[in-house]
Amino acid sequence: MYEYLIIGAGVTGITLCKKFREAGIDNILVLEADDKIGGLCKTEEVEGHQLDIGGGHFFHTKHPEVFEYVFSHLPESEFQYYKRVSKIELEGNTIDYPVESNVWQLPLEQQIKYIISIIRNGESQNKPEPKNYEEWIRWKLGDRICDHYMIPYNEKLWGVKPEQMDCDWLYKIPQVNVEEVLQYSLEREADVNKFPAHIHFYYPVKGGFQRIVEALAEEEREYICLNTRVSDLEYRDSRWIVNKEYEAKHVVNTVPWNDLYKALGEPAKLSFDFEKIKYNRLMISLYEKEYDHDWHWRYIPDIQKCYHREFYIHNFAADSKANGIYLESNLNRYKQKKLKYEGKLLYETETEAAYPIPVIGHKKAIEHILEYYESQNLFGVGRWGQHQYQNADVSMYEAMKFVEKRIKEDGIC
Ligand SMILES: Cc1cc2nc3c(=O)[nH]c(=O)nc-3n(C[C@H](O)[C@H](O)[C@H](O)COP(=O)(O)OP(=O)(O)OC[C@H]3O[C@@H](n4cnc5c(N)ncnc54)[C@H](O)[C@@H]3O)c2cc1C
Repeated sequence: MYEYLIIGAGVTGITLCKKFREAGIDNILVLEADDKIGGLCKTEEVEGHQLDIGGGHFFHTKHPEVFEYVFSHLPESEFQYYKRVSKIELEGNTIDYPVESNVWQLPLEQQIKYIISIIRNGESQNKPEPKNYEEWIRWKLGDRICDHYMIPYNEKLWGVKPEQMDCDWLYKIPQVNVEEVLQYSLEREADVNKFPAHIHFYYPVKGGFQRIVEALAEEEREYICLNTRVSDLEYRDSRWIVNKEYEAKHVVNTVPWNDLYKALGEPAKLSFDFEKIKYNRLMISLYEKEYDHDWHWRYIPDIQKCYHREFYIHNFAADSKANGIYLESNLNRYKQKKLKYEGKLLYETETEAAYPIPVIGHKKAIEHILEYYESQNLFGVGRWGQHQYQNADVSMYEAMKFVEKRIKEDGIC
């Protein structure tokens, strides 16, 4: 019987496996549905282009232990360090991200409209806190940014109206400094050091983002069983029987809970909660088209265009052929709108589960699910296991914290 059985071999599953083994537990098994490890962090080489098939992936973290973890497997020298060049296509202009700090790059007439709208935002005027995502955007950034960028962009990305989404995942975002917005416009320059998000990132010199997971998994291969989808989970006599074949004392789930609903025997008392666990799907389309700028990616809020982001691969993947561009589109939207793009289409691939959608009520739902199964030694960790908007670095961090906690609580060694 396995001490721990882990569902999924993405960065979370791999990190769990590695950290449990480092803690002395190697009676462990990772089951992975795909024929490759890596989950959303996979890269495929297509006609000389490095295509991150889960969409645009870049490495950065605020957790020093994650830097240490990653760089101890793939040395820092194997990465290129970039100052982010991310753009937004806004009302016929291309300006730097984030929009609120770069309004000064718009033509004067538009600048005035955006600034007035930012000055009148609800947060600056101490208006009551918003209840959903659309209200939150208006309250935070004002109507103009909301109507011309955030609402269309988010609708395109999530495939759900922002008014149907919660805003409880945005609590960390700092207040927009209206004085700074005005100052940048008058001085025609922004202070990048004051931007809310990180302005640098790492990307592997060779082999795309997948290089990171490959390095992390190098010594874990014998514990990972590929081509094995978990489709049956039965709890009997204080143990889990998985796919009627593997027995385990503990199971850690790193895949979307809603995908396991059937496998778990459709638990009636949690059906309402499982319904609130939703994700979107993406289509990733690789094109060849000439470009001679240094942009890494660009956000496209234009509702007429089916895709919401475009990536200029050669500008961050040093070993990728010139002129490779890939587009991310919400899969439903892609099917309805049909993608039109100038350039030569080389390849397209679907990402089954891309972003966990924070629909209203999602937080309580995942809390119920986690609480219910924890008493049966079935846990959830990572982007899907915790159903949270986590980047790969946060999923690694959560996996590390989870193992530490389990070892401390159970004293298993
Ligand atoms: C478009 C996009 C852009 C992103 N950009 C960044 C970025 O720039 N930087 C960053 O750090 N992060 C980024 N992320 C987030 C990052 O991809 C995730 O945080 C991370 O990959 C989560 O890893 P995971 O192991 O938890 O899940 P996953 O990578 O989804 O892995 C889950 C694994 O489980 C397997 N699986 C599914 N169902 C089953 C089953 N029933 N049985 C067995 N196996 C199963 C899957 O095949 C997969 O391999 C981005 C994500 C997306 C979608």
